[in-house]
Amino acid sequence: MADLSLFSNEQIAALLSALPDPAFILTRSGRYAAIFGGTDSRYYHDGSGLIGKSIADVLNAEKAAWFQAQITIALASRGLHVVEYPLAADDVKGVGDTGPMETIWFEGRVQPLEYQVMGEDAVLWVASNITASKKLEALLRMQSETDALTGLANRRKLMNGLTEHFELFARYKTPTSVLIFDIDHFKGINDQYGHLAGDKAITTTAEICRYELRAADFPARLGGDEFVVLMPHTASAHAMTISERLRIKIAEGLQALGTLGSGATISGGLSEMTAGDTSYEEVLKRADDALYRAKRDGRNRIIRHEAD
Ligand code: GH3
Ligand code: MG
Repeated sequence: MADLSLFSNEQIAALLSALPDPAFILTRSGRYAAIFGGTDSRYYHDGSGLIGKSIADVLNAEKAAWFQAQITIALASRGLHVVEYPLAADDVKGVGDTGPMETIWFEGRVQPLEYQVMGEDAVLWVASNITASKKLEALLRMQSETDALTGLANRRKLMNGLTEHFELFARYKTPTSVLIFDIDHFKGINDQYGHLAGDKAITTTAEICRYELRAADFPARLGGDEFVVLMPHTASAHAMTISERLRIKIAEGLQALGTLGSGATISGGLSEMTAGDTSYEEVLKRADDALYRAKRDGRNRIIRHEAD
């Protein structure tokens, strides 16, 4: 603890206002009793206009209720309460009409005070702008889940999606199908036209998946020339129609590449989650077995696993 006798009251007031992050004194009922600091103008607007107002005067009902709840939690816990929250233009009254405001993320550190302010219990709420690290976090998460060549979901994201949809299937019995497909004689494309042409065939295949599939379908690149499409709310009979359309469209798309990527086809295996499955791996395995048969039976075809 600093020796406050070294400073005059004016100096202490000046010190508080010099704090780079804003610190709000908020009462139990949600009134802004005081605001200190917030001098870092890269991150903060001048908050002095808030003094005397209530959270409900400044924020929309939902956000105001959330702030109010955090104050209550901090006071009840009698210790530091740390929260993260976004503030967008439509959360703040009056800002919506003055033009777009980028969503800002804050970390709030909320510390109950040991004395009352304006006749009420109160907290010190220090808000730090964490938008830059939130953005970086989102970018890194996105990159770790995206296949760099095609922009489709990668294997990791697919496995998360399969886990999630297997749980939904186990709980609600919503029919869910899985297609696994692979470009036929892809090595030949690489050998005949070069690796870049091979890459072009892969990116074209991905584009056709994005274009042809519904928003709820989940195409992913497993690796190499292998793709998986997870089809929620789709029984395998219907998934077969979708897969057949995809097979034809991809063959047309690859045909159109000509010497850029050559006319290749795809083979696919299809299966549906069943009540007996204990994990998504079983349905993936059945689809893979059906893919193997499609290759063996002459390629350029989709085979539905016989258990479906
Ligand atoms: P099949 O009809 O049995 O599928 O024969 P295939 O020649 O397609 O055999 P396979 O699927 O095993 O071959 C995949 C090839 O894809 C092997 C590998 O050299 C190539 N490959 C893997 N990843 C990439 C990539 O990112 N770009 C390119 N151009 N080629 C890749
Ligand atoms: Mg292949």
